[in-house]
Amino acid sequence: MRVPFVDLKSQYQSIKPEIDQALANVLGDCAFIGGKYAASFEEEFAAYIGRQRCIGVGNGTDALFAAMAGLGLGPGDEVITAANTFIATAEGITGTGASVVYVDNDPTYYNIAVDQIEAAITPNTKAIVPVHLYGQPCAIDEVMAIAEKHGLKVIEDAAQAHGAMWKGKNAGTFGNCACYSFYPGKNLGAYGDAGAVVTDDAALEEHIRSHCNHGRHDTKYHGMEGFNSRIDGFQAAVLSVKLRHLEAWTEARIAAAKRYTEGLKDVCIVPQVHADARHVFHLFVVRVANRDELRKNLQEAGVPTGIHYAKALPYVAAYESLGHKPEEFPNAYRFQDEIVSLPIHGDLTDDQIDIVVEEVRKHAKMPEA
Ligand SMILES: *Cc1c(COP(=O)(O)O)cnc(C)c1O
Repeated sequence: MRVPFVDLKSQYQSIKPEIDQALANVLGDCAFIGGKYAASFEEEFAAYIGRQRCIGVGNGTDALFAAMAGLGLGPGDEVITAANTFIATAEGITGTGASVVYVDNDPTYYNIAVDQIEAAITPNTKAIVPVHLYGQPCAIDEVMAIAEKHGLKVIEDAAQAHGAMWKGKNAGTFGNCACYSFYPGKNLGAYGDAGAVVTDDAALEEHIRSHCNHGRHDTKYHGMEGFNSRIDGFQAAVLSVKLRHLEAWTEARIAAAKRYTEGLKDVCIVPQVHADARHVFHLFVVRVANRDELRKNLQEAGVPTGIHYAKALPYVAAYESLGHKPEEFPNAYRFQDEIVSLPIHGDLTDDQIDIVVEEVRKHAKMPEA
């Protein structure tokens, strides 16, 4: 039996009548860009996260870029983020013309090492982009305290963390705004590209809406030059259906993670869930000493795996010119060769989990402390 890494087919089969009807409705109304399905999804998603406003955009990368541009970041500004994250986090920053400043990931929860943020702040620092990596919120209240002390904006990258919570509050409700991706494989995934920014800031909403729609504005025609990044009706309609199932899928992910953890904790380093966190397990990432060999063995046994991410951002070719050294971000540097992501999604069965556990137990080697 092959264990799918993500299982979009099973998921579709389980909600097919609802999805088919939703897509037919969009076709019937020809509400392809913006329109009523986009508006209702924005309202529903804002309510789910616990924010007043939601702006649907083309994808998560655009959400980050438009949010940062809307908060006034630009050339000469420095923006702090974690060394290990998806490159889109950094692209959002540099897209505005600002420079990215990396901080190492912490060795226990893999989020930004909050105790190292202040050392990275300079007179040019304007914002922090904490990432709720793998689905676990970072210590976002501590990030907010640092930001307040230094007068910095906070843009939460919640692209992997739909429904994650910190101290009982939804991650995505702490910063000036939070950015989500609805890439098909995300916890809440569309059937194409889509993303959103959530915020309580009316002026920011207005700026992002205008910026993502060619600078159009109710009163000023093209008040500025913008670009084109809008959620489309099909994606919004799919997301409205799926949002109704998200909590059940999230609970299934959490249960799967628990079963993996029980089965694997003595043979590899399993994810630690912070006592204040609701970890929604977008990814289930373990650390082993023999990562590449393990992946090969698992592949042969029908268990696909991933690496998130194969190189921490300071070490990818795109940022080579920054000249970062391994010792600057020792955790991110070390973990890039130890981390492996096991299959996890809301339709994973206990039998599938047990197959993965059995195969990992056969081959995994525990990393040295
Ligand atoms: C997926 C992802 C993004 C980008 O989202 P897209 O919709 O693919 O553009 C940004 N940040 C993180 C952490 C992500 O995982």
